[in-house]
Amino acid sequence: MSTQADLTITIIYENSLYEPGLTAGWGFAALIEYQGHTLLFDTGADGEALVANMAALNIDPLAIESVVLSHIHHDHTGGLDALLATPARPEVIVLPSFPEAFKRQVARTVTVVEATPDQITADGIFTTGEMNGSTPEQAIAIEIEQGMVIVTGCAHPGIVAIIERVKETSDKPIHLVLGGFHLKDKTRAEIASIIQAFRRLGVERVGPCHCTGEQAITAFAEAYGDDFVSIGTGTILEFQSPADSAVG
Ligand SMILES: [Zn+2]
Ligand SMILES: [Zn+2]
Repeated sequence: MSTQADLTITIIYENSLYEPGLTAGWGFAALIEYQGHTLLFDTGADGEALVANMAALNIDPLAIESVVLSHIHHDHTGGLDALLATPARPEVIVLPSFPEAFKRQVARTVTVVEATPDQITADGIFTTGEMNGSTPEQAIAIEIEQGMVIVTGCAHPGIVAIIERVKETSDKPIHLVLGGFHLKDKTRAEIASIIQAFRRLGVERVGPCHCTGEQAITAFAEAYGDDFVSIGTGTILEFQSPADSAVG
């Protein structure tokens, strides 16, 4: 009855639980389905939970063409081994700075690709490539009718820097920024100025989760109201181009 969404993001693993029956835990993994392409962004900390949650959500591991790993921390890479123990053989997009031993280990099973800046992983999807921070990291950006959707792992290079980086590449509005914003050690005043920066950059909707911190999540929820997107394990977000949903 409904037409297929242009973009579907399914949160497979995150700190909090949205859908009963799934397993939540500290970490992040999101499935991105976009115009016939299926990508997994990060793999969470617990491979058993990742694979079980995928089964419960009717996600076929074989459909995953590529896995984009945001950064080397275990709560984002820990589920990869379990995924590669299934018949799935996605290419794995890592940062050039990842430890050689990690790349070699993954390359025994699948193709490993080192991300370059603005690398297109599928038509309309690109990664920022490696950005410097307390830990180097990449974020992914997806172009939909309404603008760009940015998905971040932990945002160690700074969530504002990541949004600015995407804006260098795309002149589309920033429709949604979702993922870990890593603001748990920030003061109230610092959080307020980051929210101001979001406004200045024209970020329309936000879905802070994972390592963002309770105080910052609450502040974003208050500032964004209806444009705050609540995220947990099992959340499914569907984006339709406005034209598609028009009554015809
Ligand atoms: Zn993390
Ligand atoms: Zn991290």
